[in-house]
Amino acid sequence: MEAQTEQVGLSRAERKAREKAKLIQKETQRNNFKLVAGILKKAECEQTEEERVLLQRHQDTVQELSKRQARRNTLKRKQEELYDGEEDLRTKVKQLAEAMRQARHVVVYTGAGISTAASIPDYRGPNGVWTQLQKGRAVRHSDLSEADPTLTHMCIQMLHKVKMVQHVVSQNCDGLHLRSGLPRHALSELHGNMFIEMCVSCSPVREVIRLFDVTERTALHRHATGRRCPQCRGELRDTIVHFGERGTLEQPLNWKGAAEAAEQADLILCLGSSLKVLKKYACLWCMKKTAAKRPKLYIVNLQWTPKDDSATLKIHGKCDDVMQLLMEELGVEIPSYNRSDDPIFSLAIPLRQDEEDGHSRKTLMPLADLEHPETDSANQAEETEVQGGWFGRGYSKAKKKRKSLW
Ligand SMILES: [Zn+2]
Repeated sequence: MEAQTEQVGLSRAERKAREKAKLIQKETQRNNFKLVAGILKKAECEQTEEERVLLQRHQDTVQELSKRQARRNTLKRKQEELYDGEEDLRTKVKQLAEAMRQARHVVVYTGAGISTAASIPDYRGPNGVWTQLQKGRAVRHSDLSEADPTLTHMCIQMLHKVKMVQHVVSQNCDGLHLRSGLPRHALSELHGNMFIEMCVSCSPVREVIRLFDVTERTALHRHATGRRCPQCRGELRDTIVHFGERGTLEQPLNWKGAAEAAEQADLILCLGSSLKVLKKYACLWCMKKTAAKRPKLYIVNLQWTPKDDSATLKIHGKCDDVMQLLMEELGVEIPSYNRSDDPIFSLAIPLRQDEEDGHSRKTLMPLADLEHPETDSANQAEETEVQGGWFGRGYSKAKKKRKSLW
């Protein structure tokens, strides 16, 4: 506004002269940056006297360049995966086990890192969807409904059973917590569950659980799955909360359960989450309480998280490795996952006959059927490129970003 008023009284020639001066200034600045950056690349002993004088003269540019370099270094450091040494890991897990024994109310927050062992890629790890796309590589993965609960999922389920964990809040849509046998009331799937479709025309809202990824045709602001409610014939929708959406479904998101759990928690254990999204949900971090009254925070993640500074302990290890050691320390047995105990098979509602051909996602098979896999179709379903559906959230964003670089 000020610049505009300033220009009002000027003649056309004067305005042009000013613009030209600005352009020249920019060009000079750019050249200075190039020049200084070139000199700074050299080792100090290799710089000539003339170059040293130049650096002295362009102190501002030198400072700006070193600030930029520092920012780049920080970013790089935050993306690096770190591993604690074997002994260090044991000591840290001992500390965590002791804290869990002392705690009254433990809440576990989980992210993509707990499912990578089940071949579901995460977003920000070195092989994550975003990282790969930013490097210009295609993202391929085997069918997501092939995955079974990991050792970490089974440990969490068991810790809940023996009352050492009171609630689980997950960002994952892969449904693996539910399939591990963790009861619904102890779980908040904040971003939805790929096996659940809903009828919001029914009252109360009707949940329909399927044995396949129901999100094949859904996307941001487009949630209809293409199937109809078995009761009222209303349109069924998925439960996925995409970037930029606010999840309103009571279940499976269970925000009420998550907020109550955080309120009561005296220990929060974060497993395999970058916490970049979770940190934005203020109610999960008891930010209204004074820092001293907030629950103690234990973070297991290979990469940096924005909550590292407020954590009591940060463990750099793979979730399965840490959980295995933790269960050993706590003296709690790790149950193995068994498809015949997977609750999804008794909860699922079969498709009507005319709907059976309406999706192309792989259907989960109970163990008995797995022993006789239909070889042809099974092999074809493997290694498909990431497309829409719940796994596509964030994908389109990264794709657009990449395009704009070219
Ligand atoms: Zn209905």
